[in-house]
Amino acid sequence: MRGIIDGRLGGQLSVIEDGVRMAIGDDGISAAQKVQRHVSIVPHTHWDREWYEPFQTFRLRLVHLIDGLLDLLENDPSYSRFLLDGQMAAVDDYLEIRPENEERIRALAAAGRLSMGPWYILMDEFLISGETIIRDLQTGMRRGAAFGGAMEVGYLPDMFGHIAQMPQILKLAGLDHTVVWRGVPSVVDKTGFWWEAPDGSTVRAEYLPTGYGNGAAIPDDAKELVRRIGDHEAEIGEFLVDGLLFMNGTDHQEPQRWLGRVVAEANAIQDDYVLEVTSLADYLATTPTDGLPRWQGELRSGARANVLMGVASNRVDVKRHAAVAERALERRAEPYCALYLPADRWPRTLLDVAWKEVVRNAAHDSVCACSVDEVVDAVNTRYAEARRIGDGLADQALLALARSLADAGPTVVNPSARSRGGVVEMVVAGDDLPPDTQALPEEPGAFGIPRGLGALTLDANTVKTVLGMLPAGSQIDAHTWIQGVQVEEDETGIEITIAFGSEERFDVPLASIKQDLYTRLGARPDSAVRIRIDQPPIRRVLARVSDVPGFGWRSCTPAPLAHPVNVTAGEGGGDGGGAGSVELGNGLVSVTIDRSSGTFAIDGVAGFGKLVDGGDHGDSYNYSPPLRDRLVDAPDSVAVVVTDSGPVRACAEITAVYSWPEYVDGVTRARTGEKTVEVTTTVELRAEERMVRVVTRFVNPSRDHRLRVHLPLPRPTTYSEAECAFAVVRRGLEAEGRQDEFGLPTFPSRRFVSAGGLTVAHEGLLEYELVDIDAGDGRARTLALTLLRSTGMLSRLGMAYRPLPAGPLTPVSGLQLQGRPVEARYALVVGCDDPYAMGDDAFLPLELVHAPGGGGRATPGSALDIDGAEVSAVRREAGLLEVRVFNPTDRTTTVRVGSRSGWLVDLRGRTQGRFDGSFELRPFGIATFRSGDH
Ligand SMILES: [Zn+2]
Repeated sequence: MRGIIDGRLGGQLSVIEDGVRMAIGDDGISAAQKVQRHVSIVPHTHWDREWYEPFQTFRLRLVHLIDGLLDLLENDPSYSRFLLDGQMAAVDDYLEIRPENEERIRALAAAGRLSMGPWYILMDEFLISGETIIRDLQTGMRRGAAFGGAMEVGYLPDMFGHIAQMPQILKLAGLDHTVVWRGVPSVVDKTGFWWEAPDGSTVRAEYLPTGYGNGAAIPDDAKELVRRIGDHEAEIGEFLVDGLLFMNGTDHQEPQRWLGRVVAEANAIQDDYVLEVTSLADYLATTPTDGLPRWQGELRSGARANVLMGVASNRVDVKRHAAVAERALERRAEPYCALYLPADRWPRTLLDVAWKEVVRNAAHDSVCACSVDEVVDAVNTRYAEARRIGDGLADQALLALARSLADAGPTVVNPSARSRGGVVEMVVAGDDLPPDTQALPEEPGAFGIPRGLGALTLDANTVKTVLGMLPAGSQIDAHTWIQGVQVEEDETGIEITIAFGSEERFDVPLASIKQDLYTRLGARPDSAVRIRIDQPPIRRVLARVSDVPGFGWRSCTPAPLAHPVNVTAGEGGGDGGGAGSVELGNGLVSVTIDRSSGTFAIDGVAGFGKLVDGGDHGDSYNYSPPLRDRLVDAPDSVAVVVTDSGPVRACAEITAVYSWPEYVDGVTRARTGEKTVEVTTTVELRAEERMVRVVTRFVNPSRDHRLRVHLPLPRPTTYSEAECAFAVVRRGLEAEGRQDEFGLPTFPSRRFVSAGGLTVAHEGLLEYELVDIDAGDGRARTLALTLLRSTGMLSRLGMAYRPLPAGPLTPVSGLQLQGRPVEARYALVVGCDDPYAMGDDAFLPLELVHAPGGGGRATPGSALDIDGAEVSAVRREAGLLEVRVFNPTDRTTTVRVGSRSGWLVDLRGRTQGRFDGSFELRPFGIATFRSGDH
């Protein structure tokens, strides 16, 4: 029982007990009056860290806001709570400027008056990896713990839709509640619903039908406030399961200082509502859980709020940089450092720096690139820095692995969990081409000097200068190390003989040789120096190496080719390209390139690679066709050149020239003008693979357009299956929309999407749509993959597909990507049975290291033997190996980890149970385990 003396009622004092207002008369509490609506007011601000203003501009406002907020909370007990938007970045960004206020924030947090976290940033859920989502949550909770604990609510107020596995992620972090707005489908008709992940994990979702700003701008007048509440109750009354949650804040809104007073006054002048300033956690703790609707899976409906699906395809450069940076950290740096470096050399701080950049970029306005150019530039820079750290750490760990191997020689390393083969580029000594390899074009020798025995004569001073510029180690380039140096001296001068080779050597005392040379050169500054270079002939070749253990290594020995790839070039016909075809085949799959259309067939299914360019009079948030569209889907001319002809790899380069309209005229809303563009598409097939790799490159000449590649489906279909964080989600051919936002069925996929027997793996090309839907059978026949979407506005008014603005009406020229090079990478498999493996084969190649020999690790070998689930993370935590896996299937799986034992932990690192050698993982489950080295 809770009693609050809340003011006067009809001239009498009143008290609220369990939401029922009682009048206090002369003889004590009188009879209960009617049940009143409880109005929970949660003061907050929604803090987009960067958006239509750059970070530093918004941060100046953040500092002002929190300065004032701290004073307000400390001096006005009636302003009892504040929600700092569920993201710890706001706190860190503030404390960087006001470190002296950390204790004040901690005290307010400890008193329950300031709610912070659990996220580090309010991310977009679809455009980033599952790991980034988890690191975001873990970083936020860890940072929140430094202030006495993060808010125990998975607050998701503004995300542009929600991934299917979010309830499971929240439950794994110990969170039972979430709060959502966008994406909720029309069948959910209450302010609370059960939201279930594919594995069955369920959270209670508080649904804000009109958004996180439904109680923004509370009037400084009690009567006005009561009227506002009444209006809002009328608006969403049928959704209410109980009380009204009034979110008192909106984008970058300052706290409203009169809140406590006006709430007290509103309570005093009426008895329809009981107003209370509270926290989200307190509100949710008492909100009903009975009889709520249930929803399983992702939330991507535009039924009541914009889902802004077009953010998946604007600024394709940002999306590609995100994919590359995440891969560098998740798939190279972390596993390599965890598995190949001693535990005490785990580069925690550097990884934290890199992850912080990636997590900051995950903010919904950042990775979504619905921002001004200065923001997008900052996002790209953060991704570049994270990637540099990731790749640099990965290369260091690979070097450590190479030096730890017992056997000398080129060694192939497999960054994926599966044992697999693949193509590597290697160097072989001598002039002969080993069997089952393919020659690559010759490269000049070290320093550009031709291979073989070379000699040159320089003066002593020049040699001294060159010496000073040489690297400290013995490595000259990717394939060349110094093997030995000899120095001889006589009355005619100094002679230096340098031997190069393709193996790393540790026994060459380069430092003392250099010192010796300086001394000799200094003593004879006028003498001639004859330099003899002994560079034995080598060849750069492609080879296929098979059976490289998962998270392991094997000597780089060319495997016999059971399915070598070859090229058959039909006659190029008469005028400039013309008829005929080029066929790449390996006995597993055949690719036939049509010289007239520039498209290709896979196993007889024709039409792959057809580029369709149409107008886009939308904005950064949404595609929208211009009033008068003009599609260009055929080139003016095509030329096909075979650039690699097997047996390991075959490539053909298709150069197609198109005439694309230049822009959409703002007045006529028609595509106008004409620009010539040369689009180069490389189609590649390798021995032993059914995968066709495609790279399309061009310099974008036009504005206001959308370029898609059309990929025919071997079988017509009614659905697609796309990879999102920790799951593959099935989607139909339609999307729920409304008048304010057309339900455009363009969907995001993060690494791959399958439909009608075709699987497409891609690098950051996040948007696809099933098209060519036959009216008769209702089945789609083509998958359209968006390669580029150029628009010039952050937000626009009066678009066909979204009439009302979604942000400021700001011109943003960078969104056009005009004049910029565009590179789109994707791969195709017909009849793919393991799209995760395909994605790794396409974008996570085997790597080559040169082992000097003499270490302790045997070859071949593996540092982590694991199967039965997809591996999402391999890292170190508290000195232990930490591995996260997920089960993408609807069957229970046994995850086997060889002879390892250890503990299963949740996302907060709390022990959930022991395992020894293996453990069961529920359908669609995510699990994290820790294990000591052994
Ligand atoms: Zn926002």
